Amino acid sequence: MRKLLIAGNWKMFKTFDEAIDLAKNIEKFVRNESVVDVAVFPPATYIHVVSSLLKNRSIFVGAQNIYPEEEGAFTGEISAKMVLTSGGSMTILGHSERRNVFGEPNDFICKKVKKAMATGLIPVLCIGEKLEEREAGETESVLIGQLEGSLDGVKIDSPDEIVLAYEPVWAIGTGVNATPEQAQATQAFIREWFRGRYGPMADKIRILYGGSVKPSNAEKLLSQADIDGALIGGASLSSESFCEIIAIAKRISIEGKCQ
Ligand code: PEP
Repeated sequence: MRKLLIAGNWKMFKTFDEAIDLAKNIEKFVRNESVVDVAVFPPATYIHVVSSLLKNRSIFVGAQNIYPEEEGAFTGEISAKMVLTSGGSMTILGHSERRNVFGEPNDFICKKVKKAMATGLIPVLCIGEKLEEREAGETESVLIGQLEGSLDGVKIDSPDEIVLAYEPVWAIGTGVNATPEQAQATQAFIREWFRGRYGPMADKIRILYGGSVKPSNAEKLLSQADIDGALIGGASLSSESFCEIIAIAKRISIEGKCQ
């Protein structure tokens, strides 16, 4: 079984003090955790302080996005090196809000994936279909397009270098999660696509599910064979619900997945 990764995307929420409180509460809970990996993605302005608070703990801290250039006149953007030298080790890329609100295309996301990996950050590459695409039976072709476009020419030497996240757009922030069966079938499909491109490493790559994960649905989702963790928005903003999901992941990891 792949080690489960429970990741919290704080999006554009929390004041500085609130972010520190949240990080401290997670730190208390996760202290000495080794069964499950945990990651948090605070707003960029808090990466440094949050990573200092979580130093020496088994918690990854990352950015929600990067710009693909090394440096330059790109007002308002942050580089992979800035994230790394602020204590970050991961970055979300291709989140549906970046794709749909900010209009980021696959080839731009691909440049970011390459830059992140070349800098030593682990990308959490998000893909997912819209509701009308699922209803039209286009889920697989949409995902193939996103995978091919976002990973075009991307060399992966080890399964630890990248994480994938399947996030159906219709499930993000809506309270309506994909059913465990829907998520499992789609993630198995993603793993097979990955196998075709990258070979047996596909068995070791982590594919997270994201979209309205909460304590009440985490157990069933995380018990699916091809769901290797969760990318969590809303429920990661409270330490109680986030830590409850970590505890569920821990229990599954210890007891094994029995479906
Ligand atoms: C997300 O932002 O990636 C996400 C899955 O959000 P939520 O858990 O709120 O649906």
